[in-house]
Amino acid sequence: DESTSEQLVELAKRRGYFFQSSGAYGGVGGFYTFGPQGASLKGNVEDAWRDRFAVAEGNMEIDAPTIMPEPVFEASGHLDGFDDMLVECPECGESHRADHVVEDNTEYEDAESLPIPEVEEVIAEHQLVCPSCGAGLAGQAVEAFNLMFATNIGPGDSQPGYLRPETAQGIFVEFPRLKEYARNQLPFGVTQIGRAYRNEISPRRSIIRTREFTQAELEYFVDPEEDEPDLESVADVEVTLYPASEQNAEDGDEIETTIGDAVEEGVISSPWVAYFLGVAKPWYDAVGVDMDRFRFRQHLSGERAHYASDCWDAEGEIDGNWIELAGFAYRGDYDLSKHAEHSGDRFTVFKQYDEPKTVERATVDPDMSYLGPEFGGAAQDVVEELEALAGRDRSAFDGDTVAIDLEGETHDLPVEKTGFSVEEQTEAGEHIVPHVVEPSFGVDRLVYTVLHHAYREDEVDGEERTYLDLEPEVAPTFVGVFPLQNDAELEAQADEILDDLRAEGLSVTYDDSGNIGRRYRRQDEVGTPFCVTVDYETVEDEETTVTVRERDTTDQKRLPVEDLAETLAEIREG
Ligand code: ATP
Repeated sequence: DESTSEQLVELAKRRGYFFQSSGAYGGVGGFYTFGPQGASLKGNVEDAWRDRFAVAEGNMEIDAPTIMPEPVFEASGHLDGFDDMLVECPECGESHRADHVVEDNTEYEDAESLPIPEVEEVIAEHQLVCPSCGAGLAGQAVEAFNLMFATNIGPGDSQPGYLRPETAQGIFVEFPRLKEYARNQLPFGVTQIGRAYRNEISPRRSIIRTREFTQAELEYFVDPEEDEPDLESVADVEVTLYPASEQNAEDGDEIETTIGDAVEEGVISSPWVAYFLGVAKPWYDAVGVDMDRFRFRQHLSGERAHYASDCWDAEGEIDGNWIELAGFAYRGDYDLSKHAEHSGDRFTVFKQYDEPKTVERATVDPDMSYLGPEFGGAAQDVVEELEALAGRDRSAFDGDTVAIDLEGETHDLPVEKTGFSVEEQTEAGEHIVPHVVEPSFGVDRLVYTVLHHAYREDEVDGEERTYLDLEPEVAPTFVGVFPLQNDAELEAQADEILDDLRAEGLSVTYDDSGNIGRRYRRQDEVGTPFCVTVDYETVEDEETTVTVRERDTTDQKRLPVEDLAETLAEIREG
């Protein structure tokens, strides 16, 4: 029996949803082209995301470059740590993700978080074999493989650059400018929909894991001490949760609850993450993910990035497997602090106090002549060390000497020669590093899931039929218009209807080839919700009417042409 995925991939290619790229040259793993239907469906999903996560939330959208210079990824940690585990087969030479080999063949569910030596041990202990040729992998070295695509900016190799592995960095890096547009007011959110690139070791399951894909990300910047989400607006949203505690338990299971209860009972610890889960769930429903095959799964502690305090994935079920559709993480001040540290720019927001505060500021005098000769060129470092110490630990200046560390050596300086003093200052506010909440959506995986969950087979008039039960909001084509036969009068009328419907902003396709049943089947297969047929009754009757056929039920109704565009537009609007 073919799986739905196999049938879907075949349909996708035949009907122009997606297919492997560069087929004329044999194709290359992990790259797909969205055909006319797929590009349209993907565009509609992106529009729906933009409507909900940018427009309706009042967030700003940006569009940053896909290539960024090396220092960006030094700061973000991707250069050092954005690795997967690679194991190469000694027989056929194919490379595989070692953690996937382990997860697919053992009871380990989260091999990604195991250290490399342990993965090697598990491979040896379980006598795991190459997924391509079956040769034994025991004893093969597992290595860390960086997933970023490298390039050079300009001629020569003096300025290395990388294709971004996530859209997020394009937002973080521009924070010093973006906060100005937000008039230095927290909270605010910035979204981006765009391509990301990962040199995946083994791309698989068609567009679920590719090397170039589209993300839709929101970085929401908050004041951790003052800002709170509008939890009331999502409190009643019903969700299926799979918390870490259940995943670790012997008979662990998913739990059915509401966002409000989950926060109250501490199942979701970050209110901000809870808020975005509450926004995301009805949105996934609206674009056509089957809610019986959808859940939020909490990351196990080993799976979570060290800076993320709570992290949940949205998951969709495909052929019995749960796949990650999006990640929701509370990232603290990690990203902005890292970029501040590496760039020297200001990644803070000035937070005005309700009333100016009088504060004591401790300083040291940089002109202390004592420091010059004693430390030569290091005088500035001495001042910086002292200033940092004065701000942190003033008791250090209480005695006769103050100890500072310079290049591994401790120096005891006489306090009176440091120029230490305390001054009172009136301050209007302070610079704070915002915290970040990140909902990060994969668009391609979502498109795949929407198609998979919409895939239907039934029987119409004794004939087998395949159709896609796509939501009208995202269906690539909303109406098919057909003249019943090749007849000038019918065609003229059909043309007129086509123009009317397009003027109403509906996406319409025209088809006059083949018998009418074939034409209906074609539209069923691409998921077109309605077909309008112009027949002899249309042109002969006093009142001009057409047949409108509904995709799922195949029911047909006659509607006056006059009302057609408006009626269909209303349905499209929902
Ligand atoms: P995975 O564990 O599946 O590799 P990830 O946890 O590394 O994914 P994130 O870094 O959280 O993924 O990226 C956010 C989203 O981007 C994912 O939820 C997914 O929808 C999408 N995504 C990530 N990698 C790919 C890929 N290679 N192909 C298609 N979509 C992807």
